[in-house]
Order: sequence, then structure tokens, then C-alpha cells
Amino acid sequence: MKHILVTGAGGFIGHHLVNRLKAEGYWVRGADLKYPEYQNTAADEFKILDLRRWENCQEAVRGVDFVYNLAADMGGIGYISASLADIARNNVLINTHMLEASRLAGVKKFLFSSSACVYAQYKQKAADVTPLKEEDAYPADPEPGYGWEKLYAEQMCQYYRHDFGFQTRIVRFHNVYGPLGTYEGGKEKAPAAISRKVALADDGDEIEIWGDGAQTRSFMYVDDCVEGLLRLMASDFHDPLNLEPQGVRGRNSDNGRLRNVFGWEPSISLHNGLDTTYKWIEGQLAKTGRTPKAGAAHV
Ligand code: NAD
Repeated sequence: MKHILVTGAGGFIGHHLVNRLKAEGYWVRGADLKYPEYQNTAADEFKILDLRRWENCQEAVRGVDFVYNLAADMGGIGYISASLADIARNNVLINTHMLEASRLAGVKKFLFSSSACVYAQYKQKAADVTPLKEEDAYPADPEPGYGWEKLYAEQMCQYYRHDFGFQTRIVRFHNVYGPLGTYEGGKEKAPAAISRKVALADDGDEIEIWGDGAQTRSFMYVDDCVEGLLRLMASDFHDPLNLEPQGVRGRNSDNGRLRNVFGWEPSISLHNGLDTTYKWIEGQLAKTGRTPKAGAAHV
């Protein structure tokens, strides 16, 4: 049986990924600073480890065949634009140590979760920006802090392949959303924040939306994200790969490479995904009596 490590398994995507890997019959170890917040982990083993520390990375990778490296200091745009130094330092430490520990432990494949924040900012000024292709990350002008670190870690993965023949996979997520994710506290992303604001509002209330209201983004439901992760890990493809929903405008990406590599692309509509997500967040808030009329709100 294949042994798999998921770092960041206490987080949103990592937790969903562990559920899926267990359903597929793998032996799974989770590692994180914390346990999942909203549901018990399905992992066979879960280690509380600070992966900025070298010896903890060595402990995490012991005896595993594949590593999904999802641990990262991250959050919504408010958080990542305020904490440049902390985020960049923490994530450089996690990613460089995890890569080296995995290589030394004989890990067969290592998947790194990158981000659309690596894309050159000057290529996405307009609201109707042309869909971004993987090569649009260069010449580099990523988001300060978080984006620069992700781009650097992508390069590190490629250097490990070049120098050691180490098998790395690089996926670029944009905005992933779904149930069991953070919906308050400052680290939540737009779909969860808007769902919370709507759920907490009374009929006729106004809710605050950041920006000028004309900004566009694409959002991918977490089940599509997890499916893409499994497909990428199983593939031989080692260049960065966009993983995005189809048919959306804004800072969206071109899925051409994804279709060529997998013959597949995400298919869960924003309507269906947001419906499930909203209901989960609304239910969470209703449990503690915080919604004005539990169950009465609609998306
Ligand atoms: P998340 O914040 O829910 O999960 C990340 C997890 O990493 C958290 O549980 C956190 O505790 C853990 N972590 C942070 N520092 C750690 C440390 N020092 N040691 C051990 N664990 C640590 O985020 P997510 O949405 O599940 O994202 C997973 C990955 O996908 C991250 O690498 C993120 O950068 C990337 N990503 C996510 C999105 C998105 O929309 N969710 C978009 C682009 C990229």
C-alpha cells in the first residue's frame, strides 16, 4: 500500500485531500501545526509539527512514498498583503526544508501547491484581463511576499529535478472554496467572507464588499481541486500547471495546458459549489445562534 504525507492536513484543502486519499485506500499521514477545525481527520496518523524546522520535516517524511506539500502561512488578501516578511520567511523555511527532507528520505514524488499570486501583476490590471497562461508568470512581477515566495519555491522544485532528478509536481491554484474552510477571523477568502456576511445580514441590510465592485476572479470548488491534485500526482508532468474552473472571466487562467495533459478540467459550477458552501457556513453560524433567522436566508 502506498504511504502518503499531506502537509497542511489541518487546513482546508489538506483536510479534503486526506478524506479523498483515505477513500481511495491509501495509508495517509497528516502533518500540521493544528488539527482540522471543523471535522476529525481521517488520516491514519496525524503529527502536530512545525514544518519550518528541519528536524520536524525529517520526522514528517519518514517512510512515505508521496508528499503533497500544502502547508503554508497564508490567508485572504487582507492578511497576505499585511504580513509580507512573516509569510515569506515562514514559507521559504517550510518549502526548502520539506523538499530536501523528502529527497533525502527517498520520496518518489513531491507535489508543491503554488498560487495564481505568482502571475505578473502588470499583466492583470484590467477587469477583462486575458486569461493567464503558465508562462505569464515571467518576466516576474508576482505579488509581494506570498507570491514571490511561491515563485521561488516553484523554481526550487525545478532545481531539484534538474540537479537530482527528484520528481516534483507544481500546481497553481487560484481561489479554492468549499465547506469546512475558514469563514471568519481575517484569513478567510472572498466566497466564505461574502457567505458569512450574507448569512449574518437581516433582510434589507447591506453588506460590505472590498474593492470597487468591478473586480473579477475565478473560484474553484474544493472537490475539483482535490481531483486535479490526484491527477497531477499520477501524471509525468513536471512544469507548473494552472488548475482553474472553466468559463470564467477576470484574473482567470488559461486551462489549455491542463486539458492537454489530463484531458480533463474542473466542472463544478460556481452556482452549485457556492450553494453547498453557503449552506455549510450558514449552518455553522446558526448552530451558535448568530444568524438573524436560521435557515431563512438564500444565496
Ligand atoms: P490553509 O491555511 O487552510 O491550510 C494551510 C495549513 O498549513 C494550515 O492548516 C496551517 O496550520 C498549516 N501551516 C502553516 N504553517 C505551518 C507550519 N509552520 N508547520 C506546519 N503546518 C503549517 O490553506 P489552504 O487553503 O488549505 O491552502 C493549501 C495550500 O494551497 C497552501 O500552500 C496555499 O498557499 C495553496 N493555495 C491555496 C489557495 C486557496 O484558494 N485556498 C489558493 C492558492 C494557493
